[in-house]
Amino acid sequence: MQSFNPPVRTLMGPGPSDVHPRILSAMARPTIGHLDPAFVGMMDEVKTMLKHAFQTENAMTMPVSAPGSAGMETCFANLVEPGDKVVVCINGVFGMRMKENVERAGGVCVEVHDDWGKAVSPEKVEETLAANADAKILAFVHAETSTGACSDAKTLCEIARKHDCLTIVDAVTSLGGVELRVDEWGIDAIYSGTQKCLSCTPGLSPVSFSEKALDKVRNRKTKVQSWFLDLNLVMGYWGQGAKRAYHHTAPINALYALHESLVMLHEEGLENAWARHKSMHDKLKAGLEEMGIGFVVDEDIRLPQLNSVWIPEGVDDAAVRSELLNTYNLEIGAGLGDFAGKVWRIGLMGFSAKEENVLFCLSALKKVLNK
Ligand SMILES: *Cc1c(COP(=O)(O)O)cnc(C)c1O
Repeated sequence: MQSFNPPVRTLMGPGPSDVHPRILSAMARPTIGHLDPAFVGMMDEVKTMLKHAFQTENAMTMPVSAPGSAGMETCFANLVEPGDKVVVCINGVFGMRMKENVERAGGVCVEVHDDWGKAVSPEKVEETLAANADAKILAFVHAETSTGACSDAKTLCEIARKHDCLTIVDAVTSLGGVELRVDEWGIDAIYSGTQKCLSCTPGLSPVSFSEKALDKVRNRKTKVQSWFLDLNLVMGYWGQGAKRAYHHTAPINALYALHESLVMLHEEGLENAWARHKSMHDKLKAGLEEMGIGFVVDEDIRLPQLNSVWIPEGVDDAAVRSELLNTYNLEIGAGLGDFAGKVWRIGLMGFSAKEENVLFCLSALKKVLNK
C-alpha cells in the first residue's frame, strides 16, 4: 500500500464541484478540540454566515455533520410524526427520496407528480392541499439536480401557508447558485449540501428551521426515532450561548473548510454569486447550441448550475464520458433514472462556474464528438 494521490480533474457534473485551493488548505489546519473556545467561536461564525447564505434570521441554522441526505433525513425525522400526512412533490429523483423519508418516519405520503424536467405545478399542489385538509407538511425540491428544473419555492410556500402546512424544502443544489430567501419566502425547514454551489468538500449539510418548525419538534408526542439527528439533542451542541454540551465529535477540519467557503461567498457577495452562475450558464448555452445540442428544461425554469442536455442521436453516452474523463480529466454527469443514456448533466457549480471551465468543456466535448 502507498499514499493515495487522486488525479486532478475538472468537476463539471452534478456535484461534487471543484474545490478552491483556499478551502483545501483550510482543511489542513491543525485539529483542535470540538469544545475548544476557539473552535466554538468559529462555529458561531459558520452559523452567522450560513444565516446570510440562506437569507434567514432563524437561530437554528447550522450544518449537520453528514452529507445532504442527512440534512434531508434531519428535516423529515424531526418534523414528521407517525400518522402525519405529508404532501410530497415528485418531479425527479430527489422528490422520490422525500417520499421514502416520510414513510420511514411513519408518515402518510400524498404524492403530487410532475414530469421529469418540469417544475412542480402550483395548481396541482393547491388542488391536493385543498383535497387533504388534514395535511401537515408540504415538501418539495427547489432545484431538482436529476433534471435541472427549478421550482417556484416562493409560490409553493405561500400555498402551504394558506393551508396551514409547514414546508420542507430541498435546497442542496440551489444554495449559493440561484436566488433563495428563506425568511421572505416563509420556508420552515430547509437543507442543503456543501459540495454543490458552495464548492466545499462533501460531507456537511447546512440546515435551517423556523420557530414554527421548532415548536413542532419540541412538542412531539413521540421521540425522534433517530438519536443522532434529533434536533432536541443537537441543539445542545450547536445551540445559542457559550455553554455547549457534547453530543458528537464535530468533523472539525471539514468545518474549517465550510467556514472558508462561506468567507469566500461573502467576499464575492451572495447576489454576485447568483449572477455569476447565470452568466456562465449563458456562455455554455451559446456554445452548446452552436454544436446543435439542445436543453431538456424550458429556459424560464432552467437551473444555471445544472445543465441537462439531450445526447445527440447516435452518440455513445458512456464512451464520450469516459473519453472526457480519461483524455481530458473532465467529469460531466450521466442522466439518472428515466434520463439514463439520454441526457448529460453539465454542472456549473460554485468554483466550477467560471469561464475557463466553460471554454474547456465546450472544446473537449467538440473534439470527442467530432471523432
Ligand atoms: C446532491 C443532492 C442531494 C443529496 O446530497 P448528498 O450530499 O449526496 O447526500 C439531495 N438533494 C439534491 C437536490 C441533491 O442535488
